[in-house]
Amino acid sequence: MRKIRELKVKPIKNGTVIDHIPAGRALQVLKILKIPEGKNKVTIGINMESSRMGIKDIVKIENRELHSEEVDQIALIAPKATINIIRDYEVVKKEKVQLRDEIEGLIKCPNPNCISNADEPIKTKFYVVDKEPVTLRCYYCERLIKEEEIKFLF
Ligand SMILES: [Zn+2]
Repeated sequence: MRKIRELKVKPIKNGTVIDHIPAGRALQVLKILKIPEGKNKVTIGINMESSRMGIKDIVKIENRELHSEEVDQIALIAPKATINIIRDYEVVKKEKVQLRDEIEGLIKCPNPNCISNADEPIKTKFYVVDKEPVTLRCYYCERLIKEEEIKFLF
């Protein structure tokens, strides 16, 4: 007898599965990864059931493994995400994203008077003062930035 199968996203042969993204943030993850630039097949699950989170988003990218800078950026908006590297249908590496203590050159300071917004040749820099929820402090103007205020430079 044929089993009744749920309509689930099919497994990928090679690539990366980003799991445990907070529901509604998958599109931000795509932005960080500059998708749809390139030709990789991408499957997105939004509001998927999760025993751990209630609902979550999932992103599967075929034939691409992430760089550590990309993983660091994902940590900013999905601090509990897990990155699964798939090779030949097997998970060969599973890692949790980890927010660093300092973030350089990724996001914009929301303070318009901050020197980092004044066309000076300096990289933005923030200290991570809290990881849950994410709170950052600008190295230059000391402005506190909450998670929902985070704006990437790209
Ligand atoms: Zn600033």
